[in-house]
Amino acid sequence: MNEVLQEASQRSIAYLQSVRHRPVSASLQAIQRLDELKHPLPQKGVDALEIVRRLDEIGSPATVATTGGRYFGLVIGGALPATVAANWLATAWDQNACFRWTSPIAAVLEDVSLQWLGDLFGLEGGVAGAFVSGASMANFTALASARHALLSRLNWDVEAKGLYGAPELRVVVSDEVHVTILKALSLLGLGRERVIRVPTDRQGRLKIDSLPELDDRTIVCIQAGNVNTGGFDPAAEVCRRAREAGAWVHVDGAIGLWALANRDFAALTEGLAEADSWATDGHKWLNVPYDSGIVLVRKAADLRAAMSASAAYLAEGVEGDREPSHYTPESSRRARGVEIWAALLHLGRDGIAGLVEHTCRHARLFAQSLKDHGFEILNDVVLNQVLVSFGSPEATRAVINRLQAEGICWCGGTVWQGRTAMRISVSSWATTEADVQLSIDAMVRAAERA
Ligand SMILES: *Cc1c(COP(=O)(O)O)cnc(C)c1O
Repeated sequence: MNEVLQEASQRSIAYLQSVRHRPVSASLQAIQRLDELKHPLPQKGVDALEIVRRLDEIGSPATVATTGGRYFGLVIGGALPATVAANWLATAWDQNACFRWTSPIAAVLEDVSLQWLGDLFGLEGGVAGAFVSGASMANFTALASARHALLSRLNWDVEAKGLYGAPELRVVVSDEVHVTILKALSLLGLGRERVIRVPTDRQGRLKIDSLPELDDRTIVCIQAGNVNTGGFDPAAEVCRRAREAGAWVHVDGAIGLWALANRDFAALTEGLAEADSWATDGHKWLNVPYDSGIVLVRKAADLRAAMSASAAYLAEGVEGDREPSHYTPESSRRARGVEIWAALLHLGRDGIAGLVEHTCRHARLFAQSLKDHGFEILNDVVLNQVLVSFGSPEATRAVINRLQAEGICWCGGTVWQGRTAMRISVSSWATTEADVQLSIDAMVRAAERA
């Protein structure tokens, strides 16, 4: 055991030390070598040491260097060393975080992290929450709580009776709603096409003047951090109207909820804390390893009623203690709270605010430099997201292709309000100003050649 774990840790460390210096994309050769893994299941098993060796020699080169500091695709964070280390130890523990009695440590780290997150985000009066696989599942879990809360007020037990014959709920989203909200609505029987869509402005923000009249049968989904522009919906006004009407406000804050941790972003985040539920990701901006999402719900009873299984064997637990399994869609699961706890403790309030600040500063640097080189920035860079056009759609796509093939950095493409753009998302703790400079130079070169 010693030998195999030491081998794995040495190889992991070597990977992390070299990842900054290799091309961001896996080479064609590395991908072709994966064929060596495609053999029939052997009759006799393979030694653990050989497995680690094979995984590293064949597998490591075929990874995308998302932890290296110059990956700007999707919204992909790196993994803080403290969280990788915590993850290793937690893997050695191999805890089932389902119950308090299957893992006291996992349950307590969840309790502590939830307390810290409530404080960090300024959610007065505390919140309930759960640690799930990502913002998709967090959106699902929060919307299940909303469905429960609104229908139970109408004397309908949706968990027991389902939606057959239930009072109708309305769901309001913006034109820029993330697909995972629609997917969650479809899973919850609320229908992905039954939504009322509110138009958005040039930054992808919900137009408040177009918000329909709200009532106590309405769930409003707003966004903190648009995946293209980084824009925030006007939470303060939406929440004010919703509160008066008895509607539920859910915030998809997969990216942007973390801006609540930095006072400089107060104008952007105003009103977010007034919502009823929130979804965010640990594996994006907080820089913890996959998979890691967080759902927060203002009233514990709503989350618990939506998620708790009623089977008798699940009902144990010391009175008053939060029983993790009552708050998540899953039962057996890994102890995701460990890495969240490690990240929050390692960074502290200042470090989290600093992570938000420096990644946004890098985004502004990208935008300013690219603009100075004569390229068009399509969004107001209010967060860590930048949209740049290199001219015609063909020219922009050609730049993206060159950039990806060269491997100095990696950016993806998007179409924003009819315009083809390259998308830069600065989400990793590991990105330095030198990385930004190197990447800008690569972009300018790619644009000249394209
Ligand atoms: C990434 C993202 C999601 C989905 O999160 P996963 O972690 O991929 O499940 C949802 N909403 C927004 C705004 C996102 O950026």
